[in-house]
Amino acid sequence: MSPQSPTIQERIHYYKSELPDHVTLVAVSKFHPQERLLEAYQAGHRILGESRVQELLQKQQQLPDDIQWHFIGHLQTNKVELITPFISLIQSVDSIRLLERINSSGAQLHRVIPCLLEVKIAQDDSKYGFTEADLQALLAADPIARYPFIGWRGLMAMGSLTDNKEITQREFSTLHDIFIKSKEQYFHRVSDFQTLSMGMSDDYRLAIASGSTMVRIGSDIFGTREY
Ligand SMILES: *Cc1c(COP(=O)(O)O)cnc(C)c1O
Repeated sequence: MSPQSPTIQERIHYYKSELPDHVTLVAVSKFHPQERLLEAYQAGHRILGESRVQELLQKQQQLPDDIQWHFIGHLQTNKVELITPFISLIQSVDSIRLLERINSSGAQLHRVIPCLLEVKIAQDDSKYGFTEADLQALLAADPIARYPFIGWRGLMAMGSLTDNKEITQREFSTLHDIFIKSKEQYFHRVSDFQTLSMGMSDDYRLAIASGSTMVRIGSDIFGTREY
């Protein structure tokens, strides 16, 4: 970044004043070094998103205890136990196998693990997540009783990688509809089922206009990632 570009602290302050009160900011810190995460922390921000287990564990061990870590990447079942003791929210639960594994890890820890179900709304074939049909099948099979150590918090999705705002808009409103229907039909007694996580650096305004309650902002806060 050039000396003129805003600092991470300034970006955090910008988002805090820009986002409506009902929208939670997740600062996506994947691939960025710990000094940068500390800058966000010093600006008063506490919710960070990571997408790789090893990287998350390293950062979690070295950074302050009151950071709330969200896992947002594809989670392999054999790595679940590494993050369930401390994770604040697993945003990317994308299969029944993973749900089962998180539930049994929660049972062992006597800890209900807060989760979002990831829904595949993008046309793009490479994306993970439940299709709408698979989600329906899961919800119809009484998952609340079946998986008592899952904390049902809501849904998450990523839009297609496209500059076409109409496509993104359509995907976001589809997800919003699925969210409202799931809430009414299956989660009306689950008061914590309130989170609709959609929107990233390039499309968060559109996401909020379509009903998002949680945005995941990476590059617009921390700068471009070096993979
Ligand atoms: C990387 C990532 C983001 C952040 O993307 P930016 O475009 O950098 O804001 C958000 N959500 C998920 C699931 C991601 O993997």
